[in-house]
Amino acid sequence: MSYTLEGRTGTWEIVVGLEVHAQVISHSKLFSGASASYGGEPNTHVSLVDAGFPGMLPVLNQECVAQAIRTGLGLRARINLESRFDRKNYFYADLPTGYQISQFTHPIVGEGTVEIELADGTVRHIGITRLHMEQDAGKSMHDQDPARSFIDLNRAGVALMEIVSEPDIRSPEEAGAYLRKLRQILRYLGTCDGNMEEGSMRADVNVSVRKAGEPFRTRCEIKNVNSIRYVMHAIEVEATRQIEVWEEGGEVDQETRLFDPARNETRSLRSKEDAHDYRYFPDPDLLPLVVEQAWVDELERGLPELPDDKRDRFVRQYGIPRYDASVLVAEQAIADYYEEVAKGRDARLAANWVTGDLFGALNRTGRTITDSPISAQALGGMLDLVSDKTINGKIAKEVFEDMLETGDSAAAIVERKGLKQVTDTGAIDAAVADVLARNADKVEEYRGGKDRLFGFFVGQVMKAMAGKANPAMVNEALKKVL
Ligand code: ADP
Ligand code: MG
Repeated sequence: MSYTLEGRTGTWEIVVGLEVHAQVISHSKLFSGASASYGGEPNTHVSLVDAGFPGMLPVLNQECVAQAIRTGLGLRARINLESRFDRKNYFYADLPTGYQISQFTHPIVGEGTVEIELADGTVRHIGITRLHMEQDAGKSMHDQDPARSFIDLNRAGVALMEIVSEPDIRSPEEAGAYLRKLRQILRYLGTCDGNMEEGSMRADVNVSVRKAGEPFRTRCEIKNVNSIRYVMHAIEVEATRQIEVWEEGGEVDQETRLFDPARNETRSLRSKEDAHDYRYFPDPDLLPLVVEQAWVDELERGLPELPDDKRDRFVRQYGIPRYDASVLVAEQAIADYYEEVAKGRDARLAANWVTGDLFGALNRTGRTITDSPISAQALGGMLDLVSDKTINGKIAKEVFEDMLETGDSAAAIVERKGLKQVTDTGAIDAAVADVLARNADKVEEYRGGKDRLFGFFVGQVMKAMAGKANPAMVNEALKKVL
């Protein structure tokens, strides 16, 4: 089902392409040995190269290149064995060199693709145009003093990957799914932490609208949107604005806009600059970057299993539904937890407990899987008691809640509370007889054809036995007598 917007003149389709800036995980900056870590006192992570002192020479950080290549491989993209660094010239107070070193005509990574899945199960492929490396700029601080602005260069020179998508995205939902998937891949690879709140991943959102079957129309670029939710909102309000412009007989100008989440609107920032405004040229301080296929192969062998592959393996190996598998591979730590619970056990039962009760408990307590109050071994221990029929499924819920609270093992709780399932036929038969005797009228009705009452009898017997009876045996015993 495709997403469209209705205007006065008919149905409009949204066209979106995203440019994502992802901060590379590395100890030092792209061209200097200064620390690339987040935070720190202003101007404490700054080398003379970052500060743009005359005569300083950039030296390329090999680890940043490796991270860019890993990311390219994770996006199933072409790796360009030869790429180049260019100077993108502009004047800004937090850019002391007067140019940003970036890759313009020859990026390190070419075309790739990201698979996304929508809520209704539709799978779509979003094309990646390119990934290139570039430096981040410093930060201007206007809120420290009423009269003066300050500059913090800690971020200046930190390596970024700019990941550009094709204009393949057709709805806010697809944009959200794409960003979540991209972030998931980057986190699996360990190439970017994907924390949008800290700014280590930010998106420029290109939006245009068209009538079905038309070529693309002019787009606007919404700069630096820093949450997935805002990206989705920004697309919707910008598309709506453009539809109004077109329908009133106007023209959408290609320009850069800002999204204001408080007012839920976009505002013009500047008309779109062209590449020639930056006077790009190859940086004379840096040789073309040439990498060997053998090194790329080595990096590829070192990649972890990626989310899509892991999901497909879970479906094959554990026989769980694709949807459950997608949920379980959302984070590497969740997938690891699940596999530990599932190993040698009923894997579907394990999936139900992890995605159901465990996720519910984590949500309620505001925790993540890594600080789960119930370890994978402990949950596995409880499932063992269900499988060997020490406890039934209903009692398992009670045991689980107790585990959450006390941190005790399932076995200890079953012992302490005397929750062991009753499989003694004598005791079950006695309870059955008692329940039937007390409900003679209902027995009559049941025998008269009111089959639905069977469940009532099961419930009464279970209740009489404090929930601890083996449900299959209760069913058996009831059928025999009735
Ligand atoms: P620039 O380099 O000037 O930013 P690009 O052609 O590289 O321009 O495109 C930048 C982004 O804009 C890409 O993500 C691309 O998919 C997207 N884009 C291009 N044309 C359109 C369009 N008509 N509507 C929406 N997005 C577009
Ligand atoms: Mg751009």
